[in-house]
Amino acid sequence: MLTPELIPKKEPMIRVGLILPEDNIKSIQFSFSDFQCFEIVPEDRHLPSFKNTASLNVNIVEGKLVIPEIDFCDASLKIIPSTSTEYPFITVDGIPAGRGFHWEKKISASYWGILELTIFDGQMMAVNELPLEQYLKCVSTSEMSAKCPPEFLKAQTIVARSWLLANIEQKHRNLGVDICNDDCCQRYQGMAHCTDASIKSADVTSGQVIMFDEKICDARYSKSCGGITENFDNVWEGKSIPYLVSVVDNDAKGTAFCSPEIVLEGSLKNYIGNVDEKGQYFRWEFEATQGELIQSLKNKQNVTATEIVQLIPEIIGYSGRIIVLRIEYKDFQNNLQSIEIHSEYEIRDIISPSFLFSSAFTIQKNEKGNFILHGKGWGHGVGLCQIGALGMAISGKSSEEILDHYYSVSKLQRIYSS
Ligand SMILES: [Zn+2]
Ligand SMILES: [Zn+2]
Repeated sequence: MLTPELIPKKEPMIRVGLILPEDNIKSIQFSFSDFQCFEIVPEDRHLPSFKNTASLNVNIVEGKLVIPEIDFCDASLKIIPSTSTEYPFITVDGIPAGRGFHWEKKISASYWGILELTIFDGQMMAVNELPLEQYLKCVSTSEMSAKCPPEFLKAQTIVARSWLLANIEQKHRNLGVDICNDDCCQRYQGMAHCTDASIKSADVTSGQVIMFDEKICDARYSKSCGGITENFDNVWEGKSIPYLVSVVDNDAKGTAFCSPEIVLEGSLKNYIGNVDEKGQYFRWEFEATQGELIQSLKNKQNVTATEIVQLIPEIIGYSGRIIVLRIEYKDFQNNLQSIEIHSEYEIRDIISPSFLFSSAFTIQKNEKGNFILHGKGWGHGVGLCQIGALGMAISGKSSEEILDHYYSVSKLQRIYSS
């Protein structure tokens, strides 16, 4: 695992959680690019390569991992590629993607490196251990498509490397992994997303990170700032971070890099991959109905309301993101009450059953008593704006200019070469 605060002098190995205990998975299936290139290693013995080209099934039986096809039964196993030159891979079915979101699904994905299976609190855990640069070859194009311009992919790769090595969030450290495979950390859907373009962007930027004050930058990013990026401390608790302060995401003529004038909304599908039908994120509209809001208050805040009277932004950040939202409602006795929601994440969660694009919105109540939200951007808006960075690359800017624009006081530095 990565060591917090340590700047690696050579390419580190990283551990990515593919299946977490919270996924409640009791069995999976996997197969190999070439079974002769792998060995299965239980804790205290070493099985020879097995003769089976078909899928293997792993189940939890009486607290142990059981693979009937090869008579395997133990508390954990590691599947290790025995040759490193050919890049053999393992395909695993049933990997969760989009945990906790309405688009959550199971995918089949292929991975380089080691696959480790263990049992954690009675649940199955799968971990992919691999060299950082191999991981990065899959990440820039899991996050965004390989059709993005090379300067964008280079910037995205440097940002992904910096965020991971800064190692600040450590959301899953108790599970013995550096990160998970999902949007919660960084989207990583295996080597199917690895293309010539993403390999090149990792190779030419190998070991490069952005630094500030002799530390690797905690390089946050989100899909679209909506025109202005947000201050770190308006989204996460803690003190302000000099390289994560609000910037106006405009070109010299005053046009937002993330606006449809620069990145045509019709072309977003090519760049982002999974977009919704409208593909509108710079400006959008959403109707929050009385019924849904009342239900959401009940489910998420345990508040029983009979009517939502008003949504009132109490604190608004530089990007227009609402930081504190007051919801006025009537209770069963018809008394006016209110509740404050204290983060952009919770605001997005409470307003829309499918998670609102962002908390940057203005509010209009219509004749039905529903609230029409006129919104901007997608995501928390802190640090690099991915659609804006794409717009900069389309406009001919270099990856250095992109990083300098979003993380203005940081410096680009190569900390190792692989
Ligand atoms: Zn995570
Ligand atoms: Zn932007």
